[in-house]
Amino acid sequence: MTAKIDPKRYLEYGGVAPARSLDGAGTLAYLQAKGFGQNNLEHSRLALERRAGEEFVFDPVTLNYCDFCAKPLMGGEFDRLQDGRERCITCSRTAVTTHEGFLSLYQEVRRNLEIMFEIQFNVGITVRMDNAKTIARLTRERFEPTPGFDARVLGFASENAGGYDLRIENGSPKLPSIQTMAHELTHIWQYRNWDRQQIQAKYGAGTHFFVYEGMASWVMVQYLYCTNEGDFAAREAALTRARTDEYGVGFRLFEERYPLRIAGKELRDTPFKRAFPL
Ligand SMILES: [Zn+2]
Ligand SMILES: [Zn+2]
Repeated sequence: MTAKIDPKRYLEYGGVAPARSLDGAGTLAYLQAKGFGQNNLEHSRLALERRAGEEFVFDPVTLNYCDFCAKPLMGGEFDRLQDGRERCITCSRTAVTTHEGFLSLYQEVRRNLEIMFEIQFNVGITVRMDNAKTIARLTRERFEPTPGFDARVLGFASENAGGYDLRIENGSPKLPSIQTMAHELTHIWQYRNWDRQQIQAKYGAGTHFFVYEGMASWVMVQYLYCTNEGDFAAREAALTRARTDEYGVGFRLFEERYPLRIAGKELRDTPFKRAFPL
């Protein structure tokens, strides 16, 4: 036979009478005075919850933005690069400059993508750093530094004899490098797993670019959320959403079909799991 015990009286060891030597209220007050319930983890958890519904508002006209992370630039607190781009202090500090650093970052992104989306690349990929102008020449985007944010692709993936070449702009800070790697690796996955003719037949020639770019843009934003880079992810999502080309339109289609998981939720349905993602 078990007696019912009032959970509030668990300190009474058998429920006979409150133990006089134990001061429950005093202990709680003492712990609270020492910071109980106020630790960093709790604060960041609360901040994540608060931020979940917030929208990043991008104002391309009145402010100057860092060309790498799109944060507004304050006063003189930024570097102007030789090619005209402006880079905030944080981005300057995290710029990936060595080949080793670049390579280990790439391996991390590739591994994370495989785990997050349950995919395998199974192909030789040669990665290299290149300058912005070379990459701009290889992509269809023009590169012209402006006072605002230069929303543009900083990487390029192409087929070589035995696999793929992946070029990423040199001097890029860590987060934009990660983002571009995730975007370009998604293209490599698409080239390996999709039949281009089938995709064109399904979505229409020309329109299929929206599917390729929309998915790659969705993946780079979701990747950032999954790795707890929520601020940067929200900014990237807002910038991409604002575009009227295949990146922006495609991203909005994917976002509608696969709502972004903002914090701590596992990914179930992803575009990687379907023959036709939209
Ligand atoms: Zn920046
Ligand atoms: Zn792309």
